[in-house]
Amino acid sequence: MIDDIAEKIYRDERISKADALRLFAHPNVVELGALADVVRRRKWPADRVTYNIGRNINYTNVCWVKCDFCAFYRPPGSGEGYLLPKEQIFRKIDDLIAVGGNAPKGSEILMQGGLNPKLRVDYYEDLFSDIRSRYPQVHQHCLSATEIIYIAHISRLSLEDCIRRLRDAGLDSIPGAGAEILSDQVRDIIGFRKDRVREWLAVHRIAHELGMHTSATMMYGHVETIEQRIEHLAHIRKLQDETGGFTAFIAWNFQPDDTALGADSARWNGAKTSGFDYLRTIAISRLFLDNVKSFQASWVTQGAKIAQVSLKYGVNDFGSTMMEENVVSAAGTSHADAMTLREMQRLIRDAGYAPIRRNTRYEIVN
Ligand code: SF4
Repeated sequence: MIDDIAEKIYRDERISKADALRLFAHPNVVELGALADVVRRRKWPADRVTYNIGRNINYTNVCWVKCDFCAFYRPPGSGEGYLLPKEQIFRKIDDLIAVGGNAPKGSEILMQGGLNPKLRVDYYEDLFSDIRSRYPQVHQHCLSATEIIYIAHISRLSLEDCIRRLRDAGLDSIPGAGAEILSDQVRDIIGFRKDRVREWLAVHRIAHELGMHTSATMMYGHVETIEQRIEHLAHIRKLQDETGGFTAFIAWNFQPDDTALGADSARWNGAKTSGFDYLRTIAISRLFLDNVKSFQASWVTQGAKIAQVSLKYGVNDFGSTMMEENVVSAAGTSHADAMTLREMQRLIRDAGYAPIRRNTRYEIVN
């Protein structure tokens, strides 16, 4: 029975970690979706779903961190490692402009890569400032907390100075990547060289204090317990209470193919989690994260159909067109083909909503 929790939600009261634990144990996922939809409708017009015209650019796959859940990286010295030349990055942005047009900050590049020991802050300053001067209409939503911590480290800068310099060069906002599960116990198992929870939170806190927006993510379905998923959400809710700087929350499940963790079934939960678990997790996240306005579908990991269904489970946004995807597709996900704008709009309409284009700050783009 979850009537008492439902009453809290109808009264717009915050739910507790103990409530979230009970919701994860509740067998009727449709009821969870209905409750999440109540919250979603409070924050967004009921008949609209937003989307973003954006392009992923994975500028380098060289990374020394070797997370056990990652199929994308190549270690320094590997013959398969790459660093995209600037001209190639510019060509990719030209492709984005051809689709997204010239609305100011109307199109997004999501540029992320590995922790490449050859790249210091001056590389990024040069790249971001060139992009800003050539493509002022493009919003640079780039890097991850993990990359920023490393750039600061090898450039001998404080985190604040590093983020300030990147921002001044052209970085507009920071994606939530690298959060995985915000539990040091979990990180010790799936990526022990990775930043600690307090470091991930510090990057986002500093960015918010510098006036930048960031997003929050969760990659679940590997070694974590349900209590650790809730702990993750509690970290995000607490920081959002302090700063209000998170624009959106995006969750997806671990994609095990071609990863060291996936190959060792004794070390993780052993089977890729289902669409059912995704819907349950996203709905409970919507109920728990009462201070995060936007929830984005992960069509690239869940497929278009579950992404459509998730619109009834607290999700108000279909995410980005991406145009290419290299990270989860390296781990065998079969939905990772770029989605055309027309297809995205059709899927939103088919699910019963009007598709509305937004920018990275979730402002409507005409
Ligand atoms: S998840 Fe990121 S930090 Fe970890 S190995 Fe992959 S690219 Fe490197």
